[in-house]
Amino acid sequence: MNGEIKAYNSVLELIGETPLIKLSETVAGFPGDFYAKVEAFNPGHSSKDRIALHIIEEAERKGILKPGDTIIETTSGNTGFSIAMVSRIKGYECILAVSSKSSADKIDMLKSMGAKVYVCPAHVSADDPRSYYQVAKRMHEEIKNSIYINQYFNELNIEAHYLTTGPEIWRQTAGQITHLVACSGTGGTISGTARFLKEQNPAIKILGVDAYGSVLQKYHETQEFDKNEIYPYRIEGLGKNLIPTATDFEAIDSFTKVKDEDAAHMARFISRTEGLFVGYTSGAALQATKQLAAKGAFDENSKVVVIFPDHGSRYMSKIYNEKWMDEQGFNDAKSLSETQHIEY
Ligand code: PMP
Repeated sequence: MNGEIKAYNSVLELIGETPLIKLSETVAGFPGDFYAKVEAFNPGHSSKDRIALHIIEEAERKGILKPGDTIIETTSGNTGFSIAMVSRIKGYECILAVSSKSSADKIDMLKSMGAKVYVCPAHVSADDPRSYYQVAKRMHEEIKNSIYINQYFNELNIEAHYLTTGPEIWRQTAGQITHLVACSGTGGTISGTARFLKEQNPAIKILGVDAYGSVLQKYHETQEFDKNEIYPYRIEGLGKNLIPTATDFEAIDSFTKVKDEDAAHMARFISRTEGLFVGYTSGAALQATKQLAAKGAFDENSKVVVIFPDHGSRYMSKIYNEKWMDEQGFNDAKSLSETQHIEY
């Protein structure tokens, strides 16, 4: 056989250009067309691959990072995994300071990518020297030739999505998108995507998703940081107890809050109806979309893009685990296919 070998040089070449997939059963009966931007197709299985690659490559371009240098971040979640993955391939040390609340599975995942993980006590305030913020800050000060990603306060987080997610959605919808629904955690995804899309067509509505227990919606509506809005909730990666500068509140038209229980059921529903194995916040995003649809936010001409941020495999011990669902009082175990145990 003749011809060229078709191979990628590394998984980094597979970051971005995630597919847009039309939703069917999950949105049956609502006017308009609904499309999921499925970020689980990134090699690190989440949208965070985009920011890890962009922030690290910008530091390289500016000459701040050289091979062997150290990259530091405070996260056990998707961002940590993506930074560890990019660091591995590019030859950087990766240090992640995580909270002791993080599941053992998550910590093991980070270690599998070669990251050095510091587990810090969860129940101390952010300014306590033992907190993961302070540990990361100290590491950054002590380790020469290190950079601190600081995703909640890094403008490059927004830029990564302005340069990739936004243009992809615009091209994939042939400019016909009318509404974007996206979760807000750091705010990078929604803000960067929104900035690009609004430049193309200012009429596109940008609909943010927030959690009950988070300050974002109230801040958007009143410009006030209301501590009373803060209480514990289950959804990971959505909402916040501070105001991140990586959120461009002006680019967002409105926020919709979703309940932990509804988002969990919706993620499970997406998996078993659309065959798309998605994470907790994907359920939150579609739940918000359906709450908006029920209030008449869309019509037959609407082309709604909903961002699904990550993959369901990260939540096997949570929303896809019947015992966990039971413990939260979310019990709807019957929504998973029944298991038949054969005696032997
Ligand atoms: N979903 C998940 C699972 C996440 O980890 C995050 C990031 N915190 C988000 C949604 C929100 O994305 P962003 O930080 O860009 O607002």
